[in-house]
Amino acid sequence: MNPVLSGLPTTVFETMSRLAREHGAINLGQGFPDDPGPADMRAHGARALVEGSNQYPPMMGLPSLRAAVAAHYARHQGLALDPETEVMVTSGATEALAGALLALIEPGDEVVLFAPMYDAYLPLVLRAGGVPRIVTLTPPAFGLDEAALAAAFSPRTKVVLLNDPLNPSATRLGADDLARLAAFCRRHDAIALCDEVWEHVVFDGARHVPLMSLPGMRARTVKIGSAGKISSLTGWKVGFVMADAALMRTLAKAHQFLTFTTPPNLQEAVAYGLAKDDAYFTGMRAGYARSRDRLAGGLADLGFTVLPAQATWFLNLDIADLGHADDVAFCEALVREHRVAAIPVSAFYPDRAVRTLVRLCFAKADATLDAALDRLSGVRRAAS
Ligand code: PMP
Ligand code: GLN
Repeated sequence: MNPVLSGLPTTVFETMSRLAREHGAINLGQGFPDDPGPADMRAHGARALVEGSNQYPPMMGLPSLRAAVAAHYARHQGLALDPETEVMVTSGATEALAGALLALIEPGDEVVLFAPMYDAYLPLVLRAGGVPRIVTLTPPAFGLDEAALAAAFSPRTKVVLLNDPLNPSATRLGADDLARLAAFCRRHDAIALCDEVWEHVVFDGARHVPLMSLPGMRARTVKIGSAGKISSLTGWKVGFVMADAALMRTLAKAHQFLTFTTPPNLQEAVAYGLAKDDAYFTGMRAGYARSRDRLAGGLADLGFTVLPAQATWFLNLDIADLGHADDVAFCEALVREHRVAAIPVSAFYPDRAVRTLVRLCFAKADATLDAALDRLSGVRRAAS
């Protein structure tokens, strides 16, 4: 068997969701909303399933969805994308990432990654034959340091894999960080693979700036989005990739032999959802911000140290302040004894460099958050 895969544990999201079921816990671990998702999009998808085509759509995606993706990014991020040659539909961001890494990396190429990193990244890079060069980002800012970038980039750098906004830290890169990274990409002639699935889930009046929009980055950036996050429908697994036509030709070759295509009815409904007016996106953000504040406020009242959450559906607890030193042990006790599932952030650090952060998902109904807070009120300081 291939050792990269045979040596892997089951993903932390699956493990914690299983433990949550076993212990009857409130699941604030794996990131998904309590809410079933926009009713009009689900109705649209159902209608397309019954009345529309259920045969193979075009390999690159339905023309209606590709046009909707291009229009969406023009409206929200000022990007000019040709829907014919620069947009491809994938089965979730995960397929887009896997395909892009297979398409971009030749064995031995170096790939710059940032920890904490989404748990799929490192195995996908290694399986594609890439040599990881990891930059460790630290709380609370998780910013990009010039010296750390200089140490990670080399003449062999082919790809830099960026997640912005960043899961699990719930932070966004600032303008200085983006400019610094773009300068390294240009200097080293590297391709930026940008996982921007959280681009719309940003709070407090912020607006997402895609690395692709920075000077000299348009032709060297592969941008990835996901309707799972944009439209709060994580189970649909409809994603998209945007890149210059010259890169897209090879990205499409990877996609054609991974999934080839994605269910047409879901594509139709996502096209409809991406065209929603600004009020929808503003309201979506306001709703999640309110949930964030409810959970963060309740946790602070209970005496927990909560890190600021600028984006995503997550916030982080600093358990060092409670005298705990190991997030995995803390999360195991939490699910068993207090029946609340969370995610140990060390799962996102390949060397477990940071072990005192615990991620909680706040994309939940008020009653779910309140019940979780009630259970969390039983958590005590570690005996010293
Ligand atoms: N990247 C990041 C940073 C994510 O948080 C997630 C899922 N939450 C994904 C990729 C996967 O997205 P999808 O479900 O569209 O495959
Ligand atoms: N991205 C989701 C999270 O961060 C989980 C996705 C998954 O379970 N594969 O919680």
